[in-house]
Amino acid sequence: MTNITPRLLLVEDDEDDYILTCDYLEQFTTHQFAIDWVTNQDDALAEMAKNCHDICLLDYQLGAQNGLTVLKRGIEAGFTSPIIMLTGQADEKVDLAALDAGAVDYLIKSELNGTRFARSIRYALARREIEKERVDRLKAEAENRSKDRFLAHLSHELRTPLTSILGYTELLMDSELGREAKAELGIVLNNSKHLLSLLNNMLDLSKIAADKLELNITEVSLDSLIADVYALMRVAANDKGLTLTISSESPLPLQIYTDETRLRQVLINLISNAIKFTEKGKIEVRFWVEQNSACHLLYFDVSDTGIGIPEDNLLSIFKPFEQVADVVSRHQGGSGLGLAICTELTAKMGGAIELESKFGAGSRFTVHIATGDVSQVRHEELTFDAKPFNTHAAEALCYSGKVLVVDDVKDIRMLIGHLVSATGLTVEYARNGLEALERIKASMFDQQPYDLVLIDIHMPVMDGTTAIKHIRAENFTGPMVAMTAATMKGVRQELMQQGFNKVLEKPINNDALISVLKSCMQEAQVETQESSTTVSTGDQHYLLVEDDPDAADITALLLRKLGVNVQIAYSGQQCLEMFAQRTDWTKVLLDLHLPDANGFVLAKNLRQLDPRLDIVILSGDQPEDVKLQEAGINTFLLKPINRQMLAELVNNG
Ligand code: ADP
Repeated sequence: MTNITPRLLLVEDDEDDYILTCDYLEQFTTHQFAIDWVTNQDDALAEMAKNCHDICLLDYQLGAQNGLTVLKRGIEAGFTSPIIMLTGQADEKVDLAALDAGAVDYLIKSELNGTRFARSIRYALARREIEKERVDRLKAEAENRSKDRFLAHLSHELRTPLTSILGYTELLMDSELGREAKAELGIVLNNSKHLLSLLNNMLDLSKIAADKLELNITEVSLDSLIADVYALMRVAANDKGLTLTISSESPLPLQIYTDETRLRQVLINLISNAIKFTEKGKIEVRFWVEQNSACHLLYFDVSDTGIGIPEDNLLSIFKPFEQVADVVSRHQGGSGLGLAICTELTAKMGGAIELESKFGAGSRFTVHIATGDVSQVRHEELTFDAKPFNTHAAEALCYSGKVLVVDDVKDIRMLIGHLVSATGLTVEYARNGLEALERIKASMFDQQPYDLVLIDIHMPVMDGTTAIKHIRAENFTGPMVAMTAATMKGVRQELMQQGFNKVLEKPINNDALISVLKSCMQEAQVETQESSTTVSTGDQHYLLVEDDPDAADITALLLRKLGVNVQIAYSGQQCLEMFAQRTDWTKVLLDLHLPDANGFVLAKNLRQLDPRLDIVILSGDQPEDVKLQEAGINTFLLKPINRQMLAELVNNG
């Protein structure tokens, strides 16, 4: 924006010329100048060093002093605005010397009343404006960069101690000692988890504030996403004795185009709130689609029969750190950040959130997002029953054997794994079809094949139907069960033709999963009677590089419990020394921020020493994918590191 009262520094030793110049400047219609007048070199340099003027008119002849000296020394002293040199008569040499020394123009005093003067001043000011904008932009970019660095650092610094807190608490809860203090340890665990979710929320919010939150829009299998959310949320609803139903008001497109993780985050946040603020009754989630002239929209509403929200708070709760100030929300925990983040996320996804609520009676949050063009996509009605999902029924069973659970959503993997392991089975995990294939190949190579594979159909990297082709081609003959939300006719048959032995409908139902285990494991038990099913991890040697001693100790302890031999290096230097001591490291787990080394540089050094080395990066902030790819790193673990993550790592071999 143009500064309409520019500050002008006039360096002129002749009072008449000063008055004349002021007169001419006053005739400007575009600007009104605030003029500071100085008459000698010293005063001029003192003013120029302050660099607070937008333009300077500098007399070439300052008594005995030469204006060129002032010009050069003024620029050296830090004056960055344009300088126009004024002189009594035309002299090409002086003109050139002034321009060489850094003046933007050169004017003869007799031209001061003419258009050339006006033009020269206008150009100089425009130039100053452009320069200022450039400097402001660079400054803002530098500030943003340092803010980003600060946030990444903060995130790492907070996650590292959380690794120790969560790790030791989990470990203690399982120990003899911990059983006596289970309730107290449970409180520590819950609070640490709360701290972690707070940290994640704050990072999300700061990314939103810096306009750094990018959506990852892909084709999303809507039925599968809803089924997963239902499977996760019904556990919490069930724990409070609430009924959770999810249904569709109209047929829904089976694929939409959006950011899967963020859509799941919004849904889980709203349903968790509904559960949190409802003591009895039900939570209903309904989905439907609408189309306006411009786009296709997916709607859903989450309604509860809970405490409701007073009218005064209906708007404020969408702002960060705002909570209805009552005992319940204080008692329930939470940070007041969830809805603020959901609002920003839905806006980014091309939609909005609305709220209706009656204090004391319940609330209804209605969300819509853009889905991309789904006119050619198949639509289906969806309903999920309210059957609880618990492990008690599974605990009555007793099997031995090894099951591979393949799903891209971590919480779903854990949920299914939890139920399966309650029957005594060993559970291992894979995050997509490709990982499953690798693990199945490795287990067959070790002559310890899986007794059962439970595999999701919709997954990134490699989906379930592609995976089974490769898996069967490797001559894996064990039972494979497809998990899918697609319930329409023909799908089951198609999946069976592709080589699946059974199809489990998502959201996975207790009874259905148990009946699958019953039939598959009976067969499996006969087949695997002779083969041992325990996995030996004792021949794995990990080098853990972590400068925080507590985080290093707990990570090593958890790994040792998983049967891995671990050695710790507390610095980059120590890592290189220890690395040189043996040649058979299975993996190097590398903290990204070491006091004496950058993790990526260290990874490159290690890779030069051993090109086939398996390097796993540990960090409290998510590095950019390109950086991981450049360093040839496939595995990255976000702190806090827990037992489950390490178990997956170890089992992946
Ligand atoms: P948090 O739940 O972490 O406090 P949110 O931003 O998700 O943060 O919610 C802000 C506040 O809005 C809550 O603390 C609560 O007072 C109110 N609120 C949100 N959802 C509901 C609901 N379903 N019923 C009643 N109050 C709610």
